[in-house]
Amino acid sequence: MNILVINAGSSSLKYQLVDFNSNKVLARGLCERVGSDSSFHKHGVDDNEIVHETPLRDHEEAMQLVLKTLTEGEHAAISSLAEIGAVGHRIVHGGEYFQASAMIDDDVISKIDELAELAPLHNKAALSGIYACQELMPGIPMVAVFDTAFFQTLPQSAYMYPLPYEYYEQYGIRKYGAHGTSHRYISERAADILGENLQDLRLITCHLGNGCSVSAIDHGHPIDTSMGFTPLDGLMMGTRCGAIDPAIVTYLMQKLDLTPQQMDDIMNKKSGLLGISGVSNDLRSVREASESGNERAMLAYEMFASRVKKYIGQYLALMAGCDAIVLTAGIGENCAKMRRMIFSGLQPLGIVLDQEKNKHRGFERIVSSDKSEVTIIIIPTDEEYMIARDTYEIVRAQRQIVRVQRD
Ligand code: ADP
Repeated sequence: MNILVINAGSSSLKYQLVDFNSNKVLARGLCERVGSDSSFHKHGVDDNEIVHETPLRDHEEAMQLVLKTLTEGEHAAISSLAEIGAVGHRIVHGGEYFQASAMIDDDVISKIDELAELAPLHNKAALSGIYACQELMPGIPMVAVFDTAFFQTLPQSAYMYPLPYEYYEQYGIRKYGAHGTSHRYISERAADILGENLQDLRLITCHLGNGCSVSAIDHGHPIDTSMGFTPLDGLMMGTRCGAIDPAIVTYLMQKLDLTPQQMDDIMNKKSGLLGISGVSNDLRSVREASESGNERAMLAYEMFASRVKKYIGQYLALMAGCDAIVLTAGIGENCAKMRRMIFSGLQPLGIVLDQEKNKHRGFERIVSSDKSEVTIIIIPTDEEYMIARDTYEIVRAQRQIVRVQRD
């Protein structure tokens, strides 16, 4: 079955067409700056990639272009839309409604819409992607895969904030987590690599990209995660501050006479690696600056590593140890220096990085020393695979039910 995976962001639309049976990616691409005059479309089949600039007014126009490019012209991957068996949509916020991926129907759509209050840009964009598919491929089964679903089984003591209880009841103020699909994928892969059952393992999974999060996964179930009510909490990130003393927020708002939106911008867009280094949100540029003696860039490096290390410490305590620490995403997969800093000095806890194995970039591998009690594993994440897999399984199960009812 060919599955179209759609990841609609506020101004982008990423896609992958996957032949799930042969586990082959038939095409992938993205539309960027949707809604502006400078929008463009990248589309790749095998190793051939085309890029063309074209105005895209909204997600429906972007979706139209994607479907046309997939089926027509020299870069087509299939000959007609009938070859697409199902569509899987990445949805950022599933609130407390969704503990797992779900077949999209009117009820699911209205819940995603209701939850847009908690993730306005993302859930609205995802809905535009869903509506566009309904319009252009009527009747095609569609599945929603929620970033928050994996963390819906967190214990209440982990997801509640020590605020007046009624704010949880009235406004849904609680930890929802993020990057759930990535943490789920790397935890399953880690169990495969270790040759163990996920239910027998205690894992700490670290997604370190532009956005960063760490999770404690105890015998197959997440028991805590660093992102919170929004994806601003937890670790220091590219432009996000992560956890800070909440009193700083009201202090700065009063001092600088900031509106809530201005304060939100500072914490989400002007902080993190960018805010501290003053150089960039991109760790590669921060590293270059630090290597040429820029002290603030060096400080940004140290702060980032120290925060990851502290979360590892917290989660080691929560699970009374762990079997493996898994790293993924741009920084986790590629930055040997950051890994060295994160794991330095942890030998007394049985965590020993192998300096030689650590040198390389990318690809799935173990980077801990043979004498390390805790295995350190690098696993490039594959959220699209998880979305395709959930979509395949839900659609197949639905078809079986229909078949049984018919017989
Ligand atoms: P996103 O969350 O946008 O998907 P990525 O997973 O692509 O982000 O991660 C982006 C981060 O990874 C950036 O900070 C980038 O500098 C960092 N990164 C990518 N390659 C390297 C590298 N070779 N060395 C250091 N950092 C890297």
